[in-house]
Amino acid sequence: MKFKKSFNVSIRLGGAAAQETAAAPASDSAVGFQPAASRYRRHLGRFVLVGIAGFFLSCLSLLVSDKLFPWLAYPGVALVALSLIIFFTLPSLICPACGRSADGFDRYCPCCGAAGLEPKPFLGTRCNACGKAMGRYKYRNYKIRFCTHCGALLDTAGV
Ligand SMILES: [Zn+2]
Ligand SMILES: [Zn+2]
Repeated sequence: MKFKKSFNVSIRLGGAAAQETAAAPASDSAVGFQPAASRYRRHLGRFVLVGIAGFFLSCLSLLVSDKLFPWLAYPGVALVALSLIIFFTLPSLICPACGRSADGFDRYCPCCGAAGLEPKPFLGTRCNACGKAMGRYKYRNYKIRFCTHCGALLDTAGV
């Protein structure tokens, strides 16, 4: 209950901060994208926390006696599994301008917004404008700032 309360407060604070920074020139798509971006960041934060906790418990279980081992190893493995579930159920980042998922490659570079991106699914996509080589093997190694389909600015800091 206590946790939920502080959770709500932090959301409200985050909303107020977003409204203050909105005074700076920001496109409509960037403002509309903020709820999806913060949901994505919270989800990713949970994945990291649960994953680290699971990894820590699993490592610890190897150091303790056989009696204690199951009490640390099983929760550790369960937490690692949970973190993987969280990772694979990450909310999709929907572009408010065109309604398509910004997670992927199309005509625009997700990093710099330059047009003319040529997606290469197997070799890794490289942007000629900013020189960024983007891969989706195992994890996304780049931050999404622009919609790859319509080129709208989504998040100046990147998600
Ligand atoms: Zn778009
Ligand atoms: Zn680029």
